[in-house]
Amino acid sequence: MTDGKFDVLVIGAGIAGATAAALLAKDRRVAILERESQPGYHSTGRSAALFSETYGNAMVRALSRASRAFLFAPPEGFAEYPLVRRRGTLHIARQDQLKLLENFLALPDVATHSRGVDAAETFRLCPLLRPGYAAAGIHEPFASDVDVHALHQGYLKLARAAGNILITDAPVVRMDRIHEGWIVRTPAGIFEAPVVVNAAGAWADELAELAGAAPLGIVPHRRTAVLVDPPQGVNIDELPNTIDIEELFYFKPDAGQLFLSPADETPTIPCDAQPDEIDVAIAIDRVQSATTLDVTRVRRKWAGLRSFAPDRSPVIGYDPDIEGFFWLAGHGGYGIQTAPAAGQLAAALIRREDVPADLKSFGVSSDAVSPLRFRKSVSPRRQVVAG
Ligand SMILES: Cc1cc2nc3c(=O)[nH]c(=O)nc-3n(C[C@H](O)[C@H](O)[C@H](O)COP(=O)(O)OP(=O)(O)OC[C@H]3O[C@@H](n4cnc5c(N)ncnc54)[C@H](O)[C@@H]3O)c2cc1C
Repeated sequence: MTDGKFDVLVIGAGIAGATAAALLAKDRRVAILERESQPGYHSTGRSAALFSETYGNAMVRALSRASRAFLFAPPEGFAEYPLVRRRGTLHIARQDQLKLLENFLALPDVATHSRGVDAAETFRLCPLLRPGYAAAGIHEPFASDVDVHALHQGYLKLARAAGNILITDAPVVRMDRIHEGWIVRTPAGIFEAPVVVNAAGAWADELAELAGAAPLGIVPHRRTAVLVDPPQGVNIDELPNTIDIEELFYFKPDAGQLFLSPADETPTIPCDAQPDEIDVAIAIDRVQSATTLDVTRVRRKWAGLRSFAPDRSPVIGYDPDIEGFFWLAGHGGYGIQTAPAAGQLAAALIRREDVPADLKSFGVSSDAVSPLRFRKSVSPRRQVVAG
């Protein structure tokens, strides 16, 4: 006897799980099972909260472009306040990095959303830069800060509509495929559904193994964030998100303080990531070298995990070998800005529908995100049958 029968069990209540659950909830009975007591405790609650159409690889950029309409004009009642606030992103290059800047601006979709700026304009856009530091930049004016909490809560609210449930403190510890469905065990109860969605973030490969699926090589990478006081007497509110063209550091205003990151990508095991002092020091050193900022006090520091599949595109699709096991993972450093489109794609594929036409028009393809791309040869469908 189980604690509930559903059409879909979503494992993980971060932004990925919340989005897919919300978009399925209108015509499916959905339960979200979350290990922590707070959804968003891991990566979703630790991001830099940026939406940029020039960030990430081509498929990430396509998913981001396809998410723009929702983020900038969500449906009535989704959130009390706007989900985004214009920030702008400024990629900067020193003289010796100019070739990289040129190559980046040569990408057609990057050129569509941004423009090259000379040294004077770069400095005008970000007067915190040390005079003479940047030889040129690329400005993406419509990049925006995202209210991640409002976005996440909006989706969770939709997900819980119509009698669907979110169960916290419910780590999935065992999964058995029996006949047509999954029996999923947690200390908070036992749940049953024909489809499970692996939205377990950094734990996606571990969860797959619980289900008898082969891991895909999704590796969590630690990224560090530091909040410091802004320089006295300088209004930082209008500064863009300023990012080194090699992504060796970035900084942006954050509620009156400055957010700095050394843009670290340290591979790690899935865990409650904590900042390493060396990464905090590197963040401060790199930003101080590029700007006139003199950090006297760190207000807050944290780290979170950005989990990447080997090609750095997300993984969205049914496992080719394990019946009813759907991947929604590997969102890397882009899971917030791609969430509306990734969730829409996931909901369609879970229903075994075609890729929605609006997503296709942005260049989103199911093949490019399918777990199949990591399986050299697809074995006949296996079923894990427990007694
Ligand atoms: C410092 C930093 C800056 C970032 N900046 C940006 C940015 O500017 N823009 C952007 O778009 N993205 C950014 N990201 C990336 C973004 O935060 C992630 O891509 C996104 O949050 C991933 O969401 P998720 O739902 O896949 O993972 P998570 O939020 O980690 O959610 C996964 C959930 O699964 C749960 N879970 C795991 N295993 C189990 C289990 N066995 N049973 C039950 N539950 C389980 C976990 O507890 C967790 O709550 C940043 C990330 C970091 C760390």
